[in-house]
Amino acid sequence: MNNPQVLQLKQYCNSLISYSRRKTRVVNIGEVPLGGDNPIRVQSMTTVDTMDTMGSVEQVIRMVDAGCEYVRITAPSLKEAQNLQEIKKELRLRGYSVPLIADIHFTPNAAELAARIVEKVRINPGNYADKKRFEEIEYTDAAYQAELDRIRIKFTPLVKICKQHGTAMRIGTNHGSLSDRILSRYGDTPLGMVESALEFLRVCEDLNYYNIVLSMKSSNPQVMVQAYRMLVQKLDEEGFQPYPLHLGVTEAGDGEDGRIKSSVGIGTLLEDGLGDTVRVSLTEEPEAEVPVAQELVNRYTSRKTTVAIPTIKEYPIDPFVYTRRTTHEVQNIGGHQVPRVMADFSLKQKITPASLFALGYHYSVPLDKWNLADNACDYVFANNTIIDFEIPGTLGIVYSHNVWLANRAKARSYPFIKAKDYVSGVEQSDKLNFIYACLPDVNLQLIKKLKADSTAVLLIDTYTDHGMAEQRRLFVELIENDCKVPVMIGRAYRDLKVDQLQIYSGTDMGGLLIDGLGDGVFIAAENCGSDKLVNETAFNILQATRTRISKTEYISCPSCGRTLFDLQETTAKIRARTSHLKGVKIGIMGCIVNGPGEMADADYGYVGSGPGRITLYKGREVVKKNVPTPQAVDELINLIKDGGDWIEMPN
Ligand code: SF4
Repeated sequence: MNNPQVLQLKQYCNSLISYSRRKTRVVNIGEVPLGGDNPIRVQSMTTVDTMDTMGSVEQVIRMVDAGCEYVRITAPSLKEAQNLQEIKKELRLRGYSVPLIADIHFTPNAAELAARIVEKVRINPGNYADKKRFEEIEYTDAAYQAELDRIRIKFTPLVKICKQHGTAMRIGTNHGSLSDRILSRYGDTPLGMVESALEFLRVCEDLNYYNIVLSMKSSNPQVMVQAYRMLVQKLDEEGFQPYPLHLGVTEAGDGEDGRIKSSVGIGTLLEDGLGDTVRVSLTEEPEAEVPVAQELVNRYTSRKTTVAIPTIKEYPIDPFVYTRRTTHEVQNIGGHQVPRVMADFSLKQKITPASLFALGYHYSVPLDKWNLADNACDYVFANNTIIDFEIPGTLGIVYSHNVWLANRAKARSYPFIKAKDYVSGVEQSDKLNFIYACLPDVNLQLIKKLKADSTAVLLIDTYTDHGMAEQRRLFVELIENDCKVPVMIGRAYRDLKVDQLQIYSGTDMGGLLIDGLGDGVFIAAENCGSDKLVNETAFNILQATRTRISKTEYISCPSCGRTLFDLQETTAKIRARTSHLKGVKIGIMGCIVNGPGEMADADYGYVGSGPGRITLYKGREVVKKNVPTPQAVDELINLIKDGGDWIEMPN
């Protein structure tokens, strides 16, 4: 049954203005049902070799004790699929009834065996019946149809076994492991990802099998968000069942990068009510993923829209394609400028040169000059605290209006003006003015004045629970009125743990930036961590949304039973040597079976190809095969040098 609201509004969710979870079909997975009105479930995947029964059991128990509601275990071949029986038996003996999911790539016979043993199987439609060749072949319609017929024949036995045994299935598309057939027709696109799943879904529905969960993962949160949205719309448009969604960003990495990247992708979708289960993929122990997933999900258990947000008649933002909102340039904000970062120093009694160290500015006494890190912030909101030393030439200081009036002669100082004062005509800077507004402040009078002002930048804020949607509504108002004022997205947090700050701000700001909304970010974080951490969080959000690249990006797999080296240790080693390379994407993958596909758009790849052996990639091309592990990091650096992407590490 098509959802008329979705069709009519060309939307991908129930509501763009109030929190409303998408109604999905309930899928039974052992004793833990998914979808419908069930809570959004948290899951993860083991990293121990599946043949190590006791090691796997111990790890599953640690995961379940941490709050994991489903556990996925890789089954690369028949012997691992068979061993799932032993793992399950031991877990049940120890009183653990957690549903197990077999992760399958390339091997239908392993899937068919696993589907008789565990509660759910995950297949990747990009490689279930396909060998990945990275070849773009031109398919005629007849050849394409022949491929679909071949898939149907290969896939039907699994569907029948799942039906017979009450086993659930995830059809899990991964950007980067799409079949040659899909790539040739749709390219490496969100639409290709959706079609890849639909090819298999059609077979399932033809056989009246509906115990299905869908996912559209990518290591690029932008692609991932677009693909899930498109999937929802396609399911509706083509009259498929409303299957529950499993959300995940693949190869998100570790530490704050992994947390923020996951929040940008997963959080953005959860905000719009999409998603029934979440897996956060970090290059850390699987039990460390669980609290991050819980933190993401828990924000929605009692989410209410406390203040009504005005309806949207026609949504002017394309949710399926990234397009940056058109703005004019004011100083270095808006237009084609990268999004800017403003730090909040408004609570400081005194600001000294040392205070700026945390914001990426380092003063060299012998040289008498400021050195800038790649994550040096662009503006500081000092409010009423006067800065009485010479500031770096790239930094602007924002004062409250009164303080600015008395200090307007200071270099690069700009006023912060409340919307109502701005409309009433207070004195302004002739260069740059930050106009502070929440959605209720935005009216035609304000918009008219902003449109006529080439010095105004809007600094927006929100005080409601459903703040991302409120701020998005503000952008809609500006777009509808053809107002091209640049906008800095402001959010205030208080008394949060570091993880929470990263997850909340990643979601709240990432959800806007990913749709091309916002020309800068301003995080006010009282008692949430150091100034340095807050500044890095802002830059990491811009990096994760790919709107401002300030450092190397690592696409590292979370590791699983196939992993051929210590991923955490290797990632740390590579990071230590390459973290100064701005804008280079390095894939670090545990195995050659899935790694090359999973690292999708990495510039360089470090992939386990056998015990103690690494294969190095430039883009999708193999450059060096089976390098012994002790030399592999050095060889990777040589490869980056040969590729012209190397710069020496600054002292
Ligand atoms: S790329 Fe990493 S997580 Fe994926 S199958 Fe290989 S080792 Fe496992």
